[in-house]
Amino acid sequence: MPAPFTLAPLPWDEDALAPTISANTISFHYHKHHQTYVNTLNTLVEGTKFADMKLEEIVVATAKGSDPKEKLLFNNSGQVWNHDFYWRSLTPAKTEPSAKLDSAITAAFGSKDELIAKLADAGKTQFGSGWAWLVLKDGKLAIEKTPNAETPMAAGINCLLTVDVWEHAYYLDYQNARPKYLESVLGKILNWEFASENLDKQAVRAATE
Ligand code: MN
Repeated sequence: MPAPFTLAPLPWDEDALAPTISANTISFHYHKHHQTYVNTLNTLVEGTKFADMKLEEIVVATAKGSDPKEKLLFNNSGQVWNHDFYWRSLTPAKTEPSAKLDSAITAAFGSKDELIAKLADAGKTQFGSGWAWLVLKDGKLAIEKTPNAETPMAAGINCLLTVDVWEHAYYLDYQNARPKYLESVLGKILNWEFASENLDKQAVRAATE
């Protein structure tokens, strides 16, 4: 859907991830941070060629822009997309990888525990704000980390899961203890069903191709 963009509904109740992530954190993160990215994006696209583009197309089209206005557009569209993807990467339900994802995990990492350890490491070592990702790259599962609003999706890489490591994602619950936040989230509330569905999807194609 092109502009105006709206804040996508959360896939669960705001208190559903507690105590791993409190309702207070979700409330600020979703209604303040995520909503502000949506509002700013709508202001930025107004009256421009980007107003007729889908969210993914804006992210791809502005990912390499050096123009300051395009950089701002990238930051805000990227953050809207990343947050939509983050909420769906989390669930209070007990989920397991599909058989297909399970074999891909064994092939790439040896075990799900090893995958989680590598994803935690990516999140811990992302200097400053950013994201840790499970992706499908060149036909194989891999872990990536990106700074700020950057997303592997912009490069046509198929994303399976993400974890937000901006301080606003964990500071109210864990203060500066990012490793503790990662340990809790990765061990308890990752949505392996969502990851399994994403494994079956085609990577988002670059709008400019
Ligand atoms: Mn965030």
